[in-house]
Amino acid sequence: MENTYETMNGILSAQKKHFIKEGAPSIDLRVDRLNRLKALIMDNRYDFVEALNSDYGNRSKNASLMTDAYTIVPEIDNAIKNIKKWTKVDKRSSNFPMGLLGAKSYVSYEPLGTVGMISPWNFPVNLGFGPLAAIFAAGNQVMHKPSELSPLSAALMKDLCDKAFDETEFATFLGGPEVGSSFTKLHFDHLLYTGSGEVAKHVMQSAAQNLVPVTLELGGKSPVVIGNSADMKVSAKRIMFGKTMNAGQICLAPDYVLVHKHKKDEFISEVENTVKEFYPSIKDNEDYTSIINERHFDRINSLITDAKEKGAHINQINPSNEDFSQQEFYKIPPTVITNTTEDMNVMHEEIFGPVLPVVTYENINEALALINSKDRPLGLYYFGSNKDEEANILNNTSSGGVTINNVVGHIQQKDLPFGGVGPSGIGRYHSYDGFKNFSNQRAVFKDIGFKFDKLFEAIRPPYKGSIEKVLKSLLK
Ligand code: NAD
Repeated sequence: MENTYETMNGILSAQKKHFIKEGAPSIDLRVDRLNRLKALIMDNRYDFVEALNSDYGNRSKNASLMTDAYTIVPEIDNAIKNIKKWTKVDKRSSNFPMGLLGAKSYVSYEPLGTVGMISPWNFPVNLGFGPLAAIFAAGNQVMHKPSELSPLSAALMKDLCDKAFDETEFATFLGGPEVGSSFTKLHFDHLLYTGSGEVAKHVMQSAAQNLVPVTLELGGKSPVVIGNSADMKVSAKRIMFGKTMNAGQICLAPDYVLVHKHKKDEFISEVENTVKEFYPSIKDNEDYTSIINERHFDRINSLITDAKEKGAHINQINPSNEDFSQQEFYKIPPTVITNTTEDMNVMHEEIFGPVLPVVTYENINEALALINSKDRPLGLYYFGSNKDEEANILNNTSSGGVTINNVVGHIQQKDLPFGGVGPSGIGRYHSYDGFKNFSNQRAVFKDIGFKFDKLFEAIRPPYKGSIEKVLKSLLK
């Protein structure tokens, strides 16, 4: 069946009716949904790995097992373990003197209803299923639109989810931007979008027509600052692990590096050593992932060409001197760019590929000024053991999250909220913060008993004079 606005709206209506009829799902049902999800991922992990490999042309099967199977599980287990604690009524204090007279205040975490979810192609399983830990724990139903750029993974996700879940619990809709655009017009109770900032503008505008609240998980240029106290060998290994995983097609990939001018050569030499160690060859190396398609391959290559034309030095790290002009898949070897200037596209567009500009500074404040001249990024990374320098960087920059002495790591911590700030995103999910993000945090106040009603006479008409004395006495 074609996914038109009308057909998708039919499923949304069915979900809404079901929710009104059945009420908030029990804890047992939520745990059951989470367990079904976990089993679905783990039982079919090798099929997912194969589908991802076909979608990409070549995607590291080892990395896929890690990123699109095993790393989703702790998030689900964490939700199952904590769901009773999270769903408990959250007691708050009541204003003076009502609290003393028996009034009660609390926050009750209630499901929102149906959460719409649009996910991208770079980690199709992780970003399609990972958010469900918090969404299901909060008792919601879901309608999902995966990316058309990873069609085999998307079809497999749909097939398995259609079998494991009733369509009133979880429904999947395949299709591209047209389906995505109709999807965002639906009157969801919340819409979670993961993808680029450009599309997010359309998503938010469309959701605004129905005042649907949004969580936007976007990207940006996540900088790495290397201090002089950093171990260059270890830093290069950690940075290049993050930059070459999924060929740099990671929202949190280190986008560019800032290093002291006297340490630049040492750092680049360690980057070269690392690449040779990780990938002695690239073209037929199954653990070196391809760029998803020709459009993105051309986009990344044009960033390199533009930088070169404007005077940058391009250092393509190609350990076996392979010829990349003819190749079966879209592979781009790790490429370091130096002598950059701010008029180069590579310095203001999110790279989303295995290309690493290395910019030098003489004084750390120059690094801070460059970071602060750009949009606030999703991640920020500092390498070094100088506590004052670390504090200076953290206190004088802003980003959605920070990892110190590594890259990407904060997203993997199951108890930290994940999200961006400003153009890198709106809202936070993962763990308890995710549970709250996908809950209606309903504020409940139970007033004092009827027998104390006389107390209110002091603030109710008819007024015999000014009530200011009473109001002042309440300012305690
Ligand atoms: P994209 O924006 O091109 O596509 C994402 C999704 O949006 C797809 O499902 C697509 O079909 C859908 N879509 C496209 N046009 C649409 C429209 N007009 N209306 C509604 N939906 C539409 O993004 P992408 O290329 O798939 O992903 C790359 C971007 O995502 C990068 O910027 C990256 O940093 C970001 N990202 C962020 C996170 C995060 O968690 N913060 C994770 C992964 C990727």
